[in-house]
Amino acid sequence: MSWSATISQLLEVLCAQPVNLSEAALRQVTSAIQTDTRMIKGGEVFLALRGEKFDGHDFVATAIAQGALAAIVDCADENSGLPLLQVRNTLKAYQQLARWWRDGLNIPVIGITGSVGKTTTKELIAAVLATKGRVHKTYGNFNNEIGVPKTLLELNTEHEYAVVEMAMRGRGQIAELTQIARPNIGVITNVGTAHIELLGSEQAIADAKCELLAEMPQDGVAILNQDNARLMATAQQVWSGDVLTYGFSGGDIQGLLIDNETIKVGEMQLPLPLPGRHNGSNFLAALAVARVLGIEWWRLEGGVTVNMPTGRSQRFTLPNNVLILDETYNAAPEAMTASLQLLADTPGKRKIAVLGAMKELGERSLELHQKVGETVQRLELDALLVLVDGKDAEAIAQSAEGIPSECFTSHADLLTKLKTFVQPGDRLLFKAAHSVRLDSVVNQFRGEF
Ligand code: ATP
Ligand code: MG
Repeated sequence: MSWSATISQLLEVLCAQPVNLSEAALRQVTSAIQTDTRMIKGGEVFLALRGEKFDGHDFVATAIAQGALAAIVDCADENSGLPLLQVRNTLKAYQQLARWWRDGLNIPVIGITGSVGKTTTKELIAAVLATKGRVHKTYGNFNNEIGVPKTLLELNTEHEYAVVEMAMRGRGQIAELTQIARPNIGVITNVGTAHIELLGSEQAIADAKCELLAEMPQDGVAILNQDNARLMATAQQVWSGDVLTYGFSGGDIQGLLIDNETIKVGEMQLPLPLPGRHNGSNFLAALAVARVLGIEWWRLEGGVTVNMPTGRSQRFTLPNNVLILDETYNAAPEAMTASLQLLADTPGKRKIAVLGAMKELGERSLELHQKVGETVQRLELDALLVLVDGKDAEAIAQSAEGIPSECFTSHADLLTKLKTFVQPGDRLLFKAAHSVRLDSVVNQFRGEF
């Protein structure tokens, strides 16, 4: 059974004021809360959210005309004749409904946060849990104050597990998401420098991520990456409940990377659903979740399939045996290092890094771009091509001393270079902040074949 409630139940849960709601209207049953009028098919309740560029309140009449039973609003016009539930804040109402629905379902909810690897770990956990039961997971990157309630409201009574990604743009947000999702298991993949501009320091980032633990119900289990010292130290201060640790350096679930495709844990050797050491770490988190939920690891011996969203852990082999690692969705400093390491570890003729700027790094920007260049140098890659479209990108090339490198100021110039430079057997990594739009270069380059 999917989400359902009577209009009078909604009024009660939200302590809302009824406007133009008849006795008959109060008894009506709705099967969904919808915030997008384009998705209304009939029978839903429309919830008007205010965004930067839109205000759902402008679409209330459309929603009702399209078949919505009523609308949840924060300013109601009685004279409109429209059936409304008036609340103080519609976003809070959305979150309240999500929590109410979640609380009524007796299933394990797994909450995931961290500086990098949230979506990947979410997908891996979901794939592991799917070997045992029906899983609902965050769709794409719907991981914020709107995405988390949306995810929870999509749960139905058939689901046996929920895997929820939680992201933040500042202090207090993970706490808020945790209060809504009330996870039984909280996973923190790592803390690093992603979006450091927003919080100021790595410790502030660690504190913000650990809000997941501070707000988790006391009988929950924390799953933590032991390889991340700052995370472990910060978690200890806020969480006194059960903990399961994972990592390569130690932990309850300690992994040994056999190669990019295989990991060994204890006596068991398992195929990695996604390649590379960083994905090995993410997989260990999924194994930890399986352990807590009593899901036997032998189920994973034949491998599990994970379909990553566009621009993350995507691999394309071109007809001329050129391998493209497409990581153009985003680039945090830790993710840059991880992806460069994967490139270096991938067998092939030449290893070529095609990089662009990282964003939201504030005062640390120059230093962190320089570090990327140093990583390219340490890994002894064969070539570095940098799209200089954004602050400090040039510093990547300048710091990669001894590595043949070239900078480009336009996507077109970079593409022209790739067409002549790349040879059969080469391995290429494309990675930059999303706004650099390196994905357009990947697509055009692939289109050449
Ligand atoms: P977002 O903030 O965009 O939601 P996210 O935390 O969900 O990011 P993913 O989308 O899973 O992160 O991964 C983004 C990139 O980070 C990947 O493409 C990969 O390069 C890198 N990455 C993934 N997992 C790890 C990890 N455990 N350690 C370091 N880098 C990682
Ligand atoms: Mg994500």
